[in-house]
Amino acid sequence: MQFNKVWVKVLLVLTLVAVMFSFGACNQSKTEDTTGGKLNETLDTTDHDHEHEWALIETVEPWFERRGFTRYSCGICGTEFDTDFVDALEAESIYCMFIQGDMVVKPDTDVQSLRSGLHVFAVCTNGMEVELDSYAMDGALEAKTSVITVEFMDFTATFNVTVEME
Ligand SMILES: [Zn+2]
Repeated sequence: MQFNKVWVKVLLVLTLVAVMFSFGACNQSKTEDTTGGKLNETLDTTDHDHEHEWALIETVEPWFERRGFTRYSCGICGTEFDTDFVDALEAESIYCMFIQGDMVVKPDTDVQSLRSGLHVFAVCTNGMEVELDSYAMDGALEAKTSVITVEFMDFTATFNVTVEME
C-alpha cells in the first residue's frame, strides 16, 4: 500500500516536470506554432459555446519592473489569455564599456553623441546580464580626461573620455 502511494507521487512529480519542460521549450521559441494548444484545460468553459482555438500571439521577455509572459488569442472569439509568467528582472548593478575609437571629442561635443560608442549592461539578481538601450548620461567634457556618469534606476557607472582641448 505504502509502496503504491510512493509511486503515485513519483508519477505526479514526473508529470509536473514534463509539463514544465514543455512550457519552457515553448518560451524559448518565439516562432513555434502552437495553434490548437491545450489551454482550454486551464479555463472555465461554461461562458462560451465553443472550444477556444488558441494561437500564440507573442512572447514578451521579462524586463525591469515588468513581468514576462506568453499571450495567446482565440481564433474564433478573440479572447486573449496570458500565461507562463516570468518574474521581472531586478538589477543588482550596472557597468559600461566605452569605445572611443577615432571619435574626436571636443569640449562642445554633445555628451549624448557618445552613446554611439557606449554599451551599458545591467547585472540582474538572477545572474542574467542585459544590455540597456535606455539610460541617462551626465557629465561635462571640460578636461583632457573627462568622466561621464551613466545612470539607470538607482545605479550609476562611469567611463572616461579623451577630450581634445584647444
Ligand atoms: Zn474562443
